[in-house]
Amino acid sequence: MIKTERILHLKSCRGRKVRVVREHYVRERVPCFSALCQADCDNDGKVLPGDLTHYVVPDVGVVVDYLEILEFRELQGIVFTQTACQAVQHSKGRRQYNRLRNLLKDPRHDCVLFANEFQEYSYCPREKGESQEKWQTRCVYSAAVWYHNHLAGMMDIVMITEDQDAVAQFSSLSSGVYVVSVQDYLSNFWMELHAAHELYNSISQALEEKESEGTEKEYTEHLPSEILEAGIKSGRYIQGVLNVNKHRAQQEALITTQASSNKNTDLSRDVLVYGGKNRNRAVHGDVVVVELLPKSEWRGKVTSLTERQGDEKTGEDEKSKPMPTGYVVGILQRNWRDYVVTFPPREATQSQSRNSQRILAIPWDPRIPKIRISTQQADALQDHRVVVRIDSWESTSLYPNGHSVRVLGRAGELETEIQTILIENFIHVPPFSEAQLKEMPVNSPEKPWKVHPSQVASRRDLRGTHLVFSIDPRGCEDVDDTLSVRTLDGGKLLELGVHIADVTHFVPEGSLTDLEARSRATTYYLADRRYDMLPAVLSADLCSLLGGVDRYAMSVLWELDAHTLEVTKVWYGRTLIRSSYQLHYELAQALLNREDTEVPELAPLSPEEKDAKLAELTQALEMLTHVARHLRAQRDRGGALELEGVEVRAQLDAEKNITALVPRQPLEVHETVAECMIYANHWVARKIQKTFPHQALLRHHPPPRQEFFSQLVDSAKARGFTINTSSNKALADSLDRAVDPEDPLVNRMLRMMATQAMSQALYFSTGAQSQEQYYHYGLALDHYTHFTSPIRRYADMIVHRLLTAAVDLDKGLSPAVALATNKELEETTQHINNKNRAAQRAQKLSIELFQCLYFKERDPQTDPSCVADAAIYAIRDNGVLVFVPQYGVKGPVYLKNRDGEVVTVGQDGRCEWKTGSVKRYSEHISTTCSSGTSTFTLFDHITVRISVQPSRCHADSLNLEIISNKPHKSAESQQPHSQGRSQLVQEVVRQAEEASQQAQERASRGPRLSKEEREFCQSKTPNLYSLLEEIRELALMDVGAAANVCASKTEIIVRF
Ligand SMILES: [Zn+2]
Repeated sequence: MIKTERILHLKSCRGRKVRVVREHYVRERVPCFSALCQADCDNDGKVLPGDLTHYVVPDVGVVVDYLEILEFRELQGIVFTQTACQAVQHSKGRRQYNRLRNLLKDPRHDCVLFANEFQEYSYCPREKGESQEKWQTRCVYSAAVWYHNHLAGMMDIVMITEDQDAVAQFSSLSSGVYVVSVQDYLSNFWMELHAAHELYNSISQALEEKESEGTEKEYTEHLPSEILEAGIKSGRYIQGVLNVNKHRAQQEALITTQASSNKNTDLSRDVLVYGGKNRNRAVHGDVVVVELLPKSEWRGKVTSLTERQGDEKTGEDEKSKPMPTGYVVGILQRNWRDYVVTFPPREATQSQSRNSQRILAIPWDPRIPKIRISTQQADALQDHRVVVRIDSWESTSLYPNGHSVRVLGRAGELETEIQTILIENFIHVPPFSEAQLKEMPVNSPEKPWKVHPSQVASRRDLRGTHLVFSIDPRGCEDVDDTLSVRTLDGGKLLELGVHIADVTHFVPEGSLTDLEARSRATTYYLADRRYDMLPAVLSADLCSLLGGVDRYAMSVLWELDAHTLEVTKVWYGRTLIRSSYQLHYELAQALLNREDTEVPELAPLSPEEKDAKLAELTQALEMLTHVARHLRAQRDRGGALELEGVEVRAQLDAEKNITALVPRQPLEVHETVAECMIYANHWVARKIQKTFPHQALLRHHPPPRQEFFSQLVDSAKARGFTINTSSNKALADSLDRAVDPEDPLVNRMLRMMATQAMSQALYFSTGAQSQEQYYHYGLALDHYTHFTSPIRRYADMIVHRLLTAAVDLDKGLSPAVALATNKELEETTQHINNKNRAAQRAQKLSIELFQCLYFKERDPQTDPSCVADAAIYAIRDNGVLVFVPQYGVKGPVYLKNRDGEVVTVGQDGRCEWKTGSVKRYSEHISTTCSSGTSTFTLFDHITVRISVQPSRCHADSLNLEIISNKPHKSAESQQPHSQGRSQLVQEVVRQAEEASQQAQERASRGPRLSKEEREFCQSKTPNLYSLLEEIRELALMDVGAAANVCASKTEIIVRF
């Protein structure tokens, strides 16, 4: 090892230059991470393949400015030098540096880090008078040459740089080492990678514009971080996350403070930031520091209705009092992400400098400010949706500057809108890569998958001993749970079994498939398609517990006393099963009801055999129902909640037409299956918590905050019902009693309000919470987790691994892989919780999109399907919030408009607009004008006209307008109650199919669009049942309250 001295010029936080002398050790052996290595380097970890045409070594400037291009997974064999990485750290800050580190860590990206400054022969000391940039470029070139030599000339090396002098100086110095510009590199090696070319153009343009920026200050400078930190400590400043009010994005933003940091002061409440100047360049989601204004300048929030405000979760809707108000003095952490924007139409583009135009693009998310983009494509892209990133927001600039990343398509087209929803919710679901698919087992007609003999030996074989069957919705592909039940010991004992797909057998921890599943965290269900968490060969085939085939499973088997149903023994472990029947709910229920039905699996048998088998199956179903009733009763005594009225469940006839638009009783077998799954989840939670008290993944449901119940309690009181919210049991009981025999909708709306008041069920690591916080309020269980859907949820995969480790420990074996620590697991659970929220938001948005598409094609003035019955569920200052059961739509109905006119009720209840005033009371709202006073009371039924409020830059929304204060009856008397809804669903599917056809046609026409479209159309399964279930789900509850909206499974009831 050789010691040298190295001189660093660092910039201090205040911009002062500091000269630091460091001892610097260089050595001969520094790993090269190449498969071609002849020198026995210690290449631990990721290694660049040897079969590439070249390796690419980006110069410092390229890594600093064009990292996004290097992030394309298509680019292979990238060597990041230590020199470049350090430069990113110094000049771009922590976020960009972490991004680079993640890239290096991610095994899906073909890139490595070379510690060039520690390598004796690649390191070059800085020469006297040499500029930092020149020296860095020389270092990188030297590293490129070292690679070529180290790999004995077997691999060409391409250095890419934006320094034209360097290209001239180095390009012909040594053979096998090429020095080219980024643009030349892309056009020589990646002609087809259009996205990269476009990104290059947009970044280089943004860089050029940045140099020509003005100097006039639009905003106050931010304070340096040490002053911010000192100010927070002393209590002068307050730190929090900036939350922009989406209904008043220009004016209102709240700083939500971390409660812990100011528990002792009176500032535990939020701080209001009013207006753009006070917001001082902070963007929604940033961690900011604010200083309070003098009390005389404090303001209140506005409480009247604005568009789409129906889904807000608020406590008391109090009159707005002045609240702590402040202004942003600094930003601790930017949380910028990719934003979808709409390019303005031609007349609005401000023509500008040289060959490019600067345009102000409007983000789809109304909380994000306009972003200034320099582009040559302003004309071509008008009315297109484009993904952009913000680069900077200087104090001299009224708007942030950004660059475009990718064009999604024309605004308003289905594919564009769906992609917008995905991107706006950070959902990244590219097709599974070849490398991931290579890890998958094969199951084809030529090479059928078979049970491995070693697995037969190591698993408990239930094939000959247990009658295993599944019960799912019709047409379910991914069967991840099956059941069994039998008597033991001459009838003294019952054995209940839950057998779950053994996904983790096929997906080893840390494999590429595992990493992909982890980053997705869940399968995403949108209105017209789904994006799977796992490749289809697992989710729809080898992990799917289909009938008549051998499958690996993870099982829980309980021995219960046949009389008391007390658990006497529990067994957990890996099994081998063969499901005998793949039942659907209606069939199982028919068997239980002893109705005459055909079980497909028994069709080929003789009548005698059939009768015997049928009797056996029916008996098993009856036993199961018996056990489930007992389990449910147990939980009910503990206070389990049934929040949504299950009586509105959908029903399909044999041809899969929806008939159940009339409310109906749910099938008991639905609950039976759900109860068994809850039981399995509960017992697995107990097992892993006991074995790993500090690092088990559980799911809890915190009790709701009492103040959120005020709307529910007050509304119920208006109808003469008392709702007791003191415990889950009291709430469940009082909700059960709050039934108006005249109007079933009252109970449904009360349950809706209860749901809205609920907090969200969340995953956590047992080491991160105290025992009493493990409680699941909704299910009334002290321990709960997710074990039963590993095909669709990553949390269940973690739980399967924990259970396997626990079972191994019981056998005296040490776990094969080290378990995640509490801290690591807690981070993972945060990630999964975030992804679940994103999945719910995306699903809700996609359904709203389809609702708008449905109404967009109809003339609200003439089409009877645009007129519907609605019930008032909340009162606001200038209107009411209503629920339209027929379409599952919730939204505001205004009673006063901007011209000072109010809604008045005339003859036959018809409504008109007249000049007047509006007054709000707790249970009703009144309008007064020259012709008299009209009153609208909570739970009143009114008639609304539904139309679409189009928006060019944001999502379209539905507009509800009151046309009569009488219930809307005509549609019901003529046709089945929810005809319109079934139409809506069919329409949605038809449109989806048409759109996919169009997409295919477009794809066959031009290769450029096809790639992106392929990318976003992984699996299209418009399935009437799941679609309707989803629409119903979202109609009934607010996304924030539902833990697990799922299209096709038991979670329809069990969404905790
Ligand atoms: Zn080597």
